[in-house]
Amino acid sequence: MWRYAAVLPVPFDAELTMGEGLTPLVAAPGTSALRLKLDFLMPTLSFKDRGAVVLAGLAKLLGAAPLVVDSSGNAGTAMAAYAARAGLSCEVFVPAGTSVGKLAQMQAHGATVRLVPGDRQAAADAAISRVGASPGCFYASHAYHPYFLHGTKTFAYELWEQAGGGVPSTVVVPVGNGTLLLGAYLGFGELVAAGLADRMPALVGVQAAACAPLAASCRAGTELSPTGTSATTVAEGIAIAHPPRGHQALVAVAATGGGFLTVSDDEVTQAARELAGHGLFVEPTAAVCWAAVRTARATDPGERSAVQELLCRPGVVVPLCGAGLKAVHH
Ligand SMILES: *Cc1c(COP(=O)(O)O)cnc(C)c1O
Repeated sequence: MWRYAAVLPVPFDAELTMGEGLTPLVAAPGTSALRLKLDFLMPTLSFKDRGAVVLAGLAKLLGAAPLVVDSSGNAGTAMAAYAARAGLSCEVFVPAGTSVGKLAQMQAHGATVRLVPGDRQAAADAAISRVGASPGCFYASHAYHPYFLHGTKTFAYELWEQAGGGVPSTVVVPVGNGTLLLGAYLGFGELVAAGLADRMPALVGVQAAACAPLAASCRAGTELSPTGTSATTVAEGIAIAHPPRGHQALVAVAATGGGFLTVSDDEVTQAARELAGHGLFVEPTAAVCWAAVRTARATDPGERSAVQELLCRPGVVVPLCGAGLKAVHH
């Protein structure tokens, strides 16, 4: 991704990089009109490396430590790895139910892992208390820190380059905190502003039906609902009841003429199985977008919603964001 260093807020650091970015774009099962972007083929096996390398670069320049992170797993894993490369200590607050694969990865990198009883929000609250009580530490939060989005925006630059300077019709993204969504919005927006692209793709966000605060407020046409639930779902990486940048995510999606969809755990499990049957072993969270596409395509054209229609035209891109081994729970 450092081919785009000119638009990144920290300089290239040969000691920090592990060759993250420029992930493959391949044909989807059953149709080459739709492409899958394999963002699980990253150094720590999720798209979070795009943001983590930039954030760790900033912490290294500032000499700030420890890096404090809260995560359902992948952001913690990515920050732990890049903190290790930066020579900075790292503390990761995770929900007690986090998968053993993700925990093992963080521990292997030398991070201090703090298991927090309760849900994802409880882990975030614990990290924020830690940061508030310890001046000088670096809150390496993917949900809040703007530099993280400047890393994830490279996803958009790559799609543009891989399309020979074009833009997909629709980009479907998983949305918990919305860091890939907002990074994509930022990146495509910069390309349009620079005169390098002539339009934005429609951005469609996918949430788990059990925890879908953004899809719910989009549908109701209201502000973010204060009653977002944090019910459990197989899509553990997007179960975010109160995304801090939720309002921004709603605005971004609306500005591109996109929308939100929800998928059930059954649909996610089936989608993951279908991908694995085509050689692509991804964690359930990484299958939500493919699940939404499958359902839209299986729906009778006359019955499709306007947002589902956006998933059925040519030139759609779906990222696969996290590797399958990560979500092994025992
Ligand atoms: C983090 C993550 C997401 C969700 O990203 P947000 O920034 O919370 O929207 C989706 N899929 C995978 C595999 C992730 O690691």
